Amino acid sequence: MAAKEKFAEPTYLESGFGELEYKVIKSEICCRCGTCEAFCPRIEHVENKPALVNYDPLCGLCFTYCPRTFLDMGAMETKLFGRTRKADEALGIYTKAISSQAKHSSAAAQDGGVATALLVQALQSGVIDCAVVTDKDGEWRTIAKVATTAEEISASAGTKYTISNSVDAVRIALEKGYKKIGFVGTPCQIQGLRKVKLLDEPYQFGQEKIALLVGLFCMENFDYDALMNGLVKGRFGLSPKDVSRFEIKKGMFRVIDKTGKAHEVKIDETDSFTFVGCGPCFDFASELADISVGSVGSAEGWSTILTRTDAGEKIYAATLAAGAIAEKPISEKGLALAKKLAAGKVKRFESKCAEMKVSSIIR
Ligand SMILES: Cc1cc2nc3c(=O)[nH]c(=O)nc-3n(C[C@H](O)[C@H](O)[C@H](O)COP(=O)(O)OP(=O)(O)OC[C@H]3O[C@@H](n4cnc5c(N)ncnc54)[C@H](O)[C@@H]3O)c2cc1C
Ligand code: SF4
Ligand code: SF4
Repeated sequence: MAAKEKFAEPTYLESGFGELEYKVIKSEICCRCGTCEAFCPRIEHVENKPALVNYDPLCGLCFTYCPRTFLDMGAMETKLFGRTRKADEALGIYTKAISSQAKHSSAAAQDGGVATALLVQALQSGVIDCAVVTDKDGEWRTIAKVATTAEEISASAGTKYTISNSVDAVRIALEKGYKKIGFVGTPCQIQGLRKVKLLDEPYQFGQEKIALLVGLFCMENFDYDALMNGLVKGRFGLSPKDVSRFEIKKGMFRVIDKTGKAHEVKIDETDSFTFVGCGPCFDFASELADISVGSVGSAEGWSTILTRTDAGEKIYAATLAAGAIAEKPISEKGLALAKKLAAGKVKRFESKCAEMKVSSIIR
């Protein structure tokens, strides 16, 4: 069924920043992906949210591409894959599921280091001419940046479990004149960029220059102040600058300090630090990426990979052929666990949508 039959998908020029602000930002369903800030010169990130800083001539671009205003996954899948997902495809449509590990990953890599290895291979083989990655400052505040060398990509390895408007750095890449932009990020960021690439709208701002989307798995994300004040300082008595790594493993949220000591709580006890805009989010496995990378399903130090599009298959095959990654089959048990988590996220999405009165995101 087409989106227009299910909900009122806006037509060109129908809704502007006023509607975006009312329906998404003030309703607290904004996931701070940065898509609106990236492509509209009148929107900036002010006090940690998108804000209009100039006269809005109602061009409608921000409303159109925001992943929270409307998203019809059936329509997106049809455009991207030529078909819709079957009922048993809980991780979305993919061509291959495999466990992989980078052969020379940096110590900072979160899991198998494959996200970094794929982007480095893409850069070195000319598939992309830059990669938009999410780095951090000394206190774990996220910094999205345009990396143009393998060293810069590697320096951004590792998961920052806080919300980041990373899509905004695609604007910087476009401003700098890059023509084949790679991007790695969370499912919501990938949704924004895939809408930008796929929707049949007349806006032209260089979307054809977005060349490769590497999506991460994501169950939830956290608010920086809530996580650092509530958990890192409040519960563990640490300063963010004392932290060397965050990880979520086997139901525990773990903070490793710079002496190597692990501090942990059950993931269930971190609910109050979760970012509110993550509520109406169904997408665990970055279903609209070219290739998805996560940890669930694979052994410690390995990554779970789902290749989805031609571009994703090609970059995976090239990275393997170059000897930059090794692979082994993913176990049925591992894949089943990933599917179970994805289904759990959809259930949470359904109840949050009812609670937050969201009806224009259709999985
Ligand atoms: C908020 C969040 C939640 C996640 N939750 C899960 C989960 O529930 N289950 C699961 O299996 N995997 C989850 N992941 C993915 C997992 O943590 C690893 O990112 C993934 O396995 C890739 O590991 P790697 O060693 O290949 O990546 P690396 O080579 O270490 O590269 C990681 C890349 O992630 C990017 N990145 C880091 N933080 C962010 C951020 N906040 N926003 C956007 N991009 C970022 C960096 O640019 C870097 O290039 C999550 C990731 C994030 C960011
Ligand atoms: S969800 Fe993304 S595109 Fe939508 S308002 Fe928030 S930052 Fe902008
Ligand atoms: S839970 Fe959803 S909205 Fe939140 S960061 Fe992950 S993909 Fe984005």
